[in-house]
Amino acid sequence: MNSWNYEVFWKELQSQIKNSISKEEFSMWFNNISYHSSEENTIILSVPSNFFMDQIKQRYLPLIKEIIGELSGNKINVSFSIVKKNIKEENSKQSNDQPEEIKKHPDLREDYSFKNFVIGENNSFAANAAIAISNNPGKSYNPFLIYGGVGLGKTHLLQAIGHAVHENSSDKKKIVFVTAENFTNEFIASLQKNKPHTFKNKYRSLDLLLIDDIHFFQNKEGLQEELFHTFNALYGAKKQMVFTCDRPVSELKNITDRMKSRFEMGLNVELNPPAFETRLAILKSKVESLKISISNDILELIAQNITSNVRDLESALTKLVAYAELVNKKITKEIAQKQLIDIFTTSKPCNISIDLIQKKVAEYFNLSHIDLRGRKRTKAIAFPRQIGMYIARELTEYSTTEVGSDFGGRDHTTVMHAIQKIEGSLKSDPTMEATINNIIRSIKENNSKQ
Ligand code: ADP
Ligand code: MG
Repeated sequence: MNSWNYEVFWKELQSQIKNSISKEEFSMWFNNISYHSSEENTIILSVPSNFFMDQIKQRYLPLIKEIIGELSGNKINVSFSIVKKNIKEENSKQSNDQPEEIKKHPDLREDYSFKNFVIGENNSFAANAAIAISNNPGKSYNPFLIYGGVGLGKTHLLQAIGHAVHENSSDKKKIVFVTAENFTNEFIASLQKNKPHTFKNKYRSLDLLLIDDIHFFQNKEGLQEELFHTFNALYGAKKQMVFTCDRPVSELKNITDRMKSRFEMGLNVELNPPAFETRLAILKSKVESLKISISNDILELIAQNITSNVRDLESALTKLVAYAELVNKKITKEIAQKQLIDIFTTSKPCNISIDLIQKKVAEYFNLSHIDLRGRKRTKAIAFPRQIGMYIARELTEYSTTEVGSDFGGRDHTTVMHAIQKIEGSLKSDPTMEATINNIIRSIKENNSKQ
C-alpha cells in the first residue's frame, strides 16, 4: 500500500479556497479538479484536459502549493493527470485498440481553440465567460454575444466555444458555425429552391448555434424575421446561441427592436485592444507555435508599434518571417524596422468610438459634447464638427453614412464635404496638422487607458 496519502489536504484546501474566491470561479475551476493519487512528496490531481491544466497552473498553482505546504508542513509538489471526464467506462474499453481520435468539426478552424488563445486584461472576461459557456452550454448566459473592433479575437473565441463543446460532449451535439453572410445566403437559396423547410429544420434543431458578425443583418428585414423564429425555437429548447458583432447591440441600425432585445438578453461582453504585455505574450505564443526563432527585442519592437489589434500583430510577424525566408537571413532589429515601417505607420486603432472622438474634439475646442453632436450651424461649432468627422473617418471603420448619423443625423454628402474641406485646410494651413495630431493623440491616449 502506498504510505503517502495527501487526499485529506486536498479536501481541506478546497474548503479554504471556496471561501476566498467567488462561487462562479470556484465552480468553473475547482469543481473540475479532483484528487487522483499521491506519491512521495507529490499530490496528483485529475483535470479534464490539457487546456484546463494550463489554465489552472497559470491561475492557481502558487496558491494551491502554498496552502498544501501550510497544511502539511512540508514542501509538496503538485502534479496533474489528465482524465477525460465524459467518456464512459464501456466506451473506453470498446475503443481501447483504436487510437484516440481528436474530434474535428468541419465548420471550425483547427487553430481557433482556447489552447491558442492568450488571455490578457483586454479579453479575460470574455474568454472566461466563453469557457464557462462551453462547459455548460444552454444553461446560463443565453445568448452570449461578443463585440468589439476588427482583429480582436471575436471569431477565434466563437470557434473555440464550438471546438470545446464538440470535443467535450460524449453525445453527438449538433453544432453549426456560420457567418451572418452565409446564413443569409443559405436562407435565400432555400427560398429560391422552394425549400424553406430544409433551412428551418436545420437551424431550429441545433444544440449550439454560432453566428459570426451579426452586424451584417442590419437592413435585412426578411432575414431578421427568420432569425427571430430560429432564436425563439433554440431559446425555448435551452440550446446555446453565441453571436459576434463589431459594435454594441445598441449601436446597430435597422435591426428590429425585438431582435435587438433578444441579442441583449443573455450576456454581452466587449473585447478591447490588448495592452503591451498581452501583445508581447501573443507574439511569443505565435512564434512558439510557428516554431520559428525571433529575438525578444524584435518582438518588443513589434508590440510597441502595433497597438491596434491582434490581426495586425500577426501580419507583421508573417511579413518578417516571409522576408527572412526569402533572403535567407537572420532577422535583425534594423531589418525588422525597415520591413515593417509600412505596417507601423498604417496600423490604425480600430476600437475608437465616435463618441470618444466627439468628446475629445469638444474638449479641445471648449465646446459642449451635445452641441458638437447637435444641429446648430454656427461657425464656432461647424468647423470643429468637420474636424470631428474627418478624424472619425481617419481613426474608425465607420462609413460616411454612419459618421453623419452620429453627428446630428447628417447625410454622407455632408461628411464627404467636411473631409474635403479639412483636407484642403491641411494643405493650406500649416497649423492644421498640429491641431489634428494633438486631438488624435489625446483620443489614442484615452483609448489605450481603457
Ligand atoms: P475578429 O473576429 O475580432 O476580427 P479574429 O478572431 O479573426 O478577430 O482574430 C484575428 C487574429 O488574431 C486571428 O488569427 C486570431 O487567432 C488572433 N487572435 C486574436 N486574439 C488572440 C489572442 N488573445 N490570442 C491569440 N491569438 C489571437
Ligand atoms: Mg471575425
